[in-house]
Amino acid sequence: MALDKEIFKEELKQRLRENYAMELEDASEQEIFYTLGALVKARYSDAWRDTWKYYVDKNKKQVYYFSIEFLPGRMLKSNLLNLGILDTAREALTDLGIHLDDLAEVEKDMALGNGGLGRLASCFMDSIASGGFPGNGNGIRYDYGLFKQRFVDGYQVELPDEWLQSGNIWEVRRESKAVDVRVGGHVYLAETNDGKLKPVYENERVLRAVPYDTGMVGYENNVVNTLRLWAVEIPDSEEDKYQSIQGRRELEDLTAVLYPDDSNEQGRLIRLTQEYFFVSAGIQSIIRHYKKWFQKPISKLSEYVSIHINDTHPALCVPEMMRILIDEEELSWEQAWDITVKVMSYTNHTIMAEALEKWSIDLMQRTLPRMYQIMEEIDARYVQTMQELHPHDLVERTRIIRNGQVHMAHLSIIGSHSTNGVAKLHSDLLKSVVLHDFYIIYPDRFNNKTNGIAQRRWSQIVNEPMSNVLDETIGKTWRQDSGDLKLLRNYQSDQAVLEKLAEAKKINKQKLADYILGTTDIEVSADAIFDVQIKRLHAYKRQLLNLLHIIKLYQDLKENPSLEMQKRVFIFGAKAAPSYHYAKVIIKCINETANLINNDPDIKDRIKIVFLPNYNVSLAEKIIPAADVSEQISLASKEASGTSNMKLMLNGAITLATLDGANVEIRDAVGDDNIYIFGLTEKEVYEYYENQEYSAQRLYDENAVIRRVLNAFIDGTIPNIVYEGREIFDSLIKYNDEYFLLRDFDSYVEAQEEIDKAYGDQTFWQKMSLINIANAGRFSSDETVSRYAEDIWKIESKDSFVTEKG
Ligand SMILES: *Cc1c(COP(=O)(O)O)cnc(C)c1O
Repeated sequence: MALDKEIFKEELKQRLRENYAMELEDASEQEIFYTLGALVKARYSDAWRDTWKYYVDKNKKQVYYFSIEFLPGRMLKSNLLNLGILDTAREALTDLGIHLDDLAEVEKDMALGNGGLGRLASCFMDSIASGGFPGNGNGIRYDYGLFKQRFVDGYQVELPDEWLQSGNIWEVRRESKAVDVRVGGHVYLAETNDGKLKPVYENERVLRAVPYDTGMVGYENNVVNTLRLWAVEIPDSEEDKYQSIQGRRELEDLTAVLYPDDSNEQGRLIRLTQEYFFVSAGIQSIIRHYKKWFQKPISKLSEYVSIHINDTHPALCVPEMMRILIDEEELSWEQAWDITVKVMSYTNHTIMAEALEKWSIDLMQRTLPRMYQIMEEIDARYVQTMQELHPHDLVERTRIIRNGQVHMAHLSIIGSHSTNGVAKLHSDLLKSVVLHDFYIIYPDRFNNKTNGIAQRRWSQIVNEPMSNVLDETIGKTWRQDSGDLKLLRNYQSDQAVLEKLAEAKKINKQKLADYILGTTDIEVSADAIFDVQIKRLHAYKRQLLNLLHIIKLYQDLKENPSLEMQKRVFIFGAKAAPSYHYAKVIIKCINETANLINNDPDIKDRIKIVFLPNYNVSLAEKIIPAADVSEQISLASKEASGTSNMKLMLNGAITLATLDGANVEIRDAVGDDNIYIFGLTEKEVYEYYENQEYSAQRLYDENAVIRRVLNAFIDGTIPNIVYEGREIFDSLIKYNDEYFLLRDFDSYVEAQEEIDKAYGDQTFWQKMSLINIANAGRFSSDETVSRYAEDIWKIESKDSFVTEKG
């Protein structure tokens, strides 16, 4: 339904009067934002109910995407866009003297995730709804999102993210749908009167899980799915057990904070309870919904329900489903197992050993005794079945319970019918190396689903200047179907189009330059190359390699002031896990090098370093449209996919990359001439692991450039990093450079020099940029979720259905 601008304006004023007893002229931005949000929510509430009703009436199979993280960022503009009313709303607000973009800044980022994994889950939510697929999210409503980052003296300081302080306009609390979750205590099996074995619980704690639902609005298709996030409360029946403030606190803290560790498991008690809490609540509510509305026998569950385990954090879905089917629905083990495996599917997100989730048997038993009993049984039956088919040691290596630990990836693979990696290279490595044992046992379960991004958000919402050029050049169909971006290929030699795209980029760069000045006091020129590395701070992502190159440039310029090179602004955005010491040391070193270079009168504005604090979705939205160079420089084999590489490409940045994760597929999409590839291949990395011949010391001794750069960390060249500089130096030399930075250094420098040259030829550069945009369509999460829907979830799209009210 088209939005009538005049009615919209009246409605906004009317609601403001009702809610705040206020006229528009007197209202704060905050008040107008909340009023507008309520108005938008009201606009999709009928479609939300109708979508739900449609799935129920037609008995549609639904997928439930279980993820311990979701990272939607701000939702105002994407809801307006998907409802098809963004332009009209913008005009209406302009009439009233309000800038939509300013208003949108009022919204707090919903930051219930660490990085790529959570952002992917949110891109999927958008694409599942936009594709008209019956699918819902299931996660945790943390009171505090990922910490806010500040820099004090160059060090990272973490502050709490109180995102709920002024309320959350998009969520609906559904107390009537609360469920109880039992943890702790003891469980034993006792015989009932009819001779069955039933678990008896003793001294367990009962937690009340209350769902908060958020509408996931599809793009102009009247579909609104549900993201259900669970919060913990004390059930009435347990009130007297929680007399002490401390006891209450402990319980209420369960869903208070998101664990801020990325790609690194800490194995803490409260985390395990968090995992079980949202898994158990989610599965209970799915079963309840199925029985109440579908009215089919429980034995047919897998025909109507698919559950996706996003990384291993929700792996307890497997034993929890078994528990409900056996203990509550009274199915046989065999029947329950058959259903569970058919319902579950799993995505692996990592190949790094330290990120593979394991729990000690002892902790598991104490925290979740019934889960542990069921997992023991799954494990025992697994061994029994497989030992007849496979060698003993292979079966032993793949057990769920092994060496005193419960292996969550093993549980996820054994308990599901599909295991997928997130880029071609990653999925191949799973089969050939990381999960090779499982590939021998279950070859048919393994498949690839290359990640994607919500392209409407990462183009239409964040980059209006570019979007307008696209409209003028190739028409508007790309807004619905990003595959149509390829129409742009016809214009790669059209000077007028290249210039218009360059102008759009310039506008975005100037806007970012203004933001940089406002937040950091650093002045940067929009004529410089904007060279961007934005992602979590992690040793394997090699922000340090980027820094080594910058230091080399600095030393070159100091030595030879007349050196010819393009002006460059190196832009970083990255949070380090609070407990990740080495990552924090790198942050400090980048910040101190920035101080040194930005304030050196010899350098002027030839190179600048800008480390923008508090990297999150909203900051990404500011940086990405302004980027010229996209740094994707992880050590080959370490980044499962990456998605910022896709966002940057879509916005016309040129990728500078190792052949890692989805970078390989980006190269295939744009061709070797439109990307800068450097460094070891994944095969060469594995060869080094095998022959153990890598020597960083030798590279240091033999390579004068490397020596001079590394010495800058310990000889006072970079001030204020006495301890940090030594730590960096030692990590590279004494501890032999775990991520082969020094090995890749020369080829990285070479690629950077080529980029410098290429940028000098603006037409050449603009053409590369256009080719990147034109070939970004294949990395749409619309495409990715269609593949999941077809191959794994077996759900159907309802292309578009019109609600009664229209
Ligand atoms: C896309 C995105 C990521 C993932 O970045 P990678 O470079 O793929 O690791 C992390 N954080 C935020 C806020 C993002 O938007």
